[in-house]
Amino acid sequence: MKDYEVVVVGAGPVGSTFARYAAEKGLKVALFEKKKEIGVPLQCAGLLGNKIREVNILPDEFILNKIYGAHLYSPSNTMISMRKKEPLAYVLDRINYDKFLAQLAVDEGAELFLNHHVNGIDIENGEIYFKDKKVSAEIIVGADGYSSVVSNEFGNNSKTMQAVQYLVDTGKENFDDDYFQVNVNSEISPGFIWTIPLSKTSARVGIFSDYDYQSLNRILNTFMASDEKLKDATVLKKYHGQIPVYNPKNDIIKKRAILIGDSASQVKPTTGGGLIIGFICAKIASEIVYEAIKSKNMDILKNYQKEYRKMYKNELTMQLKVQKAYESLNNDNLDSVILKLKENEIGKIVSEYGDLDSQSPLMKKLLKSGVIFSVLPGLISRKIFGL
Ligand SMILES: Cc1cc2nc3c(=O)[nH]c(=O)nc-3n(C[C@H](O)[C@H](O)[C@H](O)COP(=O)(O)OP(=O)(O)OC[C@H]3O[C@@H](n4cnc5c(N)ncnc54)[C@H](O)[C@@H]3O)c2cc1C
Repeated sequence: MKDYEVVVVGAGPVGSTFARYAAEKGLKVALFEKKKEIGVPLQCAGLLGNKIREVNILPDEFILNKIYGAHLYSPSNTMISMRKKEPLAYVLDRINYDKFLAQLAVDEGAELFLNHHVNGIDIENGEIYFKDKKVSAEIIVGADGYSSVVSNEFGNNSKTMQAVQYLVDTGKENFDDDYFQVNVNSEISPGFIWTIPLSKTSARVGIFSDYDYQSLNRILNTFMASDEKLKDATVLKKYHGQIPVYNPKNDIIKKRAILIGDSASQVKPTTGGGLIIGFICAKIASEIVYEAIKSKNMDILKNYQKEYRKMYKNELTMQLKVQKAYESLNNDNLDSVILKLKENEIGKIVSEYGDLDSQSPLMKKLLKSGVIFSVLPGLISRKIFGL
């Protein structure tokens, strides 16, 4: 007899959400978290597409700001703007939201153990090892983020990108807090710089790319010094973190174990956002794990990988292509592409078809209308999109 039916490694937002679903179904669940306090330090810009309301519980108290539109800047500052009537995204208080999600799991009956670092697991026998003890489970769920012990056990190839973020205050009403801002530049592609206002005076300004933290700090400081809205801002806090690179070849199930969230690299290649995909996969996984436990048949876990690939393979592959196209452009190309997109009144198409989480409808529209072909250098569009 095992100690638990399910052990979840990592009480991040995705692990806690999975633990809640599993406990709701009546499974005996333990949630092990290495930190003493859930959610700290902050490692997120906290920008979530409005789909969050469909895929998880989100009380208003965790929403710091509502975003209606975006401004995209080219390297030489040509700007494209788009806006929706309803909020297209929310800026969250991630630290307190993470704590809230863990509490919901506990309320449903999951046992939460803080300060419990999982050092290793046995995916054949369902054992989880700590410094001075071990526990057993029918199924182990790796929700332990980008440096996942569980994913390592699978032998997955897990690459990450680095991210640096500052919390800034300008002391003046410098931001239109309805809009978030993205600045692209070939120096940092496939990453970009974001400015996400929390209010008219404060924002999260960050960068992700494949440089080390020191270089990212240098690039971000240079950017801020040259940006009218940010040049006199006070940096109140600095954060850094890592973003897994989506790898379609990685396995997300093996024997008695599965992966969800960042540990499964369930992250959008274009934006580095992982929460919404992670929450959707936590739900699918909880249903399949329940079935596998009740029928005592671990083969059923294979349905999780099948279901995930059915739902996300096309979308994420399309995003990898967009990322590849972006990476192959130099700054002159980026300037001319963004200028041409502006001349083609792309903002209108994006306002209608743009969705932070499902980007393929917009890409299909742009491909069908020929816009992509007319703005991207011919060779690149042919190579990447097979046009
Ligand atoms: C700077 C930055 C900005 C981002 N901005 C956004 C954004 O705006 N929108 C968005 O959707 N996504 C964003 N992301 C990505 C998002 O933060 C992640 O996709 C999300 O946190 C994934 O949740 P998770 O629960 O899978 O993993 P995590 O949040 O990483 O949680 C994993 C948990 O496991 C614990 N853990 C790890 N190892 C062990 C172990 N061995 N034993 C026990 N516990 C362990 C960790 O302490 C942690 O609590 C951003 C990421 C970064 C770095």
